[in-house]
Amino acid sequence: MSNNTAMRETDMVVIGAGPGGYVAAFAAADRGMNVMLVDAGEQPGGVCLNRGCIPSKTLLHITQLISETRETGPRGVTWSQPAIDPAALRRWKDEVIARNAAGIRQLAKARKVELVRAWTRFENAQTLALGTQRDGRPDLGQVKFQRAVLATGSRPTANNALSIDSPRVMNSTDALELADIPKSLLVVGGGYIGLEMGTIYAALGSEVTVIEMTDGLLPGTDRDLVRILQARLRKALKNIYLQTKVANMADVGHAVSVTFEQAGRAGSGTSAPSDKQEFERVLVAVGRTPNSNGLGLENTSVKIAPDGFVEVNEQLQTAEESIYAIGDVIGQPMLAHKASHEGKVVAEVLAGAPASHDSRVIPAVVFTDPEIAWAGLTETQAAEAGIEIRIAKFPWGASGRAAAIGRNDGVTKIVADPSTQRILGVGIAGVGASELIAEAVLAIEMGATTTDIARCVHPHPTLSETIAEGAELAFGTTIHQAPRQH
Ligand code: FAD
Repeated sequence: MSNNTAMRETDMVVIGAGPGGYVAAFAAADRGMNVMLVDAGEQPGGVCLNRGCIPSKTLLHITQLISETRETGPRGVTWSQPAIDPAALRRWKDEVIARNAAGIRQLAKARKVELVRAWTRFENAQTLALGTQRDGRPDLGQVKFQRAVLATGSRPTANNALSIDSPRVMNSTDALELADIPKSLLVVGGGYIGLEMGTIYAALGSEVTVIEMTDGLLPGTDRDLVRILQARLRKALKNIYLQTKVANMADVGHAVSVTFEQAGRAGSGTSAPSDKQEFERVLVAVGRTPNSNGLGLENTSVKIAPDGFVEVNEQLQTAEESIYAIGDVIGQPMLAHKASHEGKVVAEVLAGAPASHDSRVIPAVVFTDPEIAWAGLTETQAAEAGIEIRIAKFPWGASGRAAAIGRNDGVTKIVADPSTQRILGVGIAGVGASELIAEAVLAIEMGATTTDIARCVHPHPTLSETIAEGAELAFGTTIHQAPRQH
């Protein structure tokens, strides 16, 4: 990245080179704008590339292979115990990140987007200070801009009760560094980041305990999908404690001593924790906080909601005319593909197109084993909003492909409008759900009915057939399910 100190001028400055920011910058450059892309990080790609989606999926791919080899014994193939070399695994993960970061740099160069490494601070609604430190001193100069796009993302939420000064207590960034494979790991938080990281460490050999404050893993996700994941996690993890909080944590030298506090009784199928336990390491994954502070936004008219998210309208414009915002910093769902989509929309808006953002069909995926994915309206949301729906569930026990790969632990659920038969949502729990959900996104966006999907010939034997059979089942019968008795 360049480090010029002169005062510069640009049509558009994008702050943050994550999947929101770099996509916005490239899409704007493709529309003829003169764009500067600024990020404080060592390399572009943001959280997603450097300490989120890509490193976690790189490690999950390897640990998935390990888990699969452990299950082939009864099917006639046994393997010796895997020899795990954490340093080589780390190298592989870092290579994957570096290759992608180099790709982003090349794409920036090809589009003449200037990549600048600096901390930024708004001096006013038209000027940005660039500095080597967070303190706002413009030791790397200033930029005068016509339009700015804020894409500063988010960071792990710090929780005071859990903020002890100990190298044994990690956040998701530390956990992805894979400094070692601890004998025991406590994951605080049963959301997707905690469960993905817990899955990785469990497959590498750690005894993993997950605690979750609410009465279920993955709060907000349809319970029937979560139950399928939880059944497998119960075998892969040492313990899952629900309705449980950390009351106190202390580094006792050889371990972290954790005192639990449990509200009511543990949820079904989970154990109750003894009051105090020791863990070699603790991963705190209790959510993410938007990076909207320390940016000098008080020198502009940008409005920040009480929860820290920057407020924008449908065109992604803040209350300050010249400043737009996208990605994690503007709110849920905090996902890379939502940020990228908003990056494209904001570039269209700035180019004068009548574009706007609507996040109704942003797919969500939990990359555990099995995966959980959903798109559109969920059963839980429909119940909360009192929306009448028709539900069809196709169990993977009836899928030939699921049987062939020995993974009948899955379900495909179709949520349809009872009067028009339009597909409103799809939820899937099962291996490969992350890839399967793309068909659902297309179906919902195109306004497809269950008949449209059922009449599309799906390849056999594939897990995608579960979507077609689920669609058939919604308003009729399907071949691989016995018809209901009348
Ligand atoms: P970010 O990617 O957070 O990028 C923001 C950038 O802004 C950073 O590079 C930062 O250095 C820079 N910045 C911040 N402040 C300043 C400043 N003052 N000056 C200059 N630069 C600044 N999402 C998915 O869709 N799929 C997944 O599988 C997935 N897995 C994840 C796994 C983990 C462990 C984590 C933590 C997250 C995961 N996410 C996943 C979420 C995803 O990473 C985020 O939604 C996404 O990165 C948000 O993109 P963004 O562009 O808004 O911001």
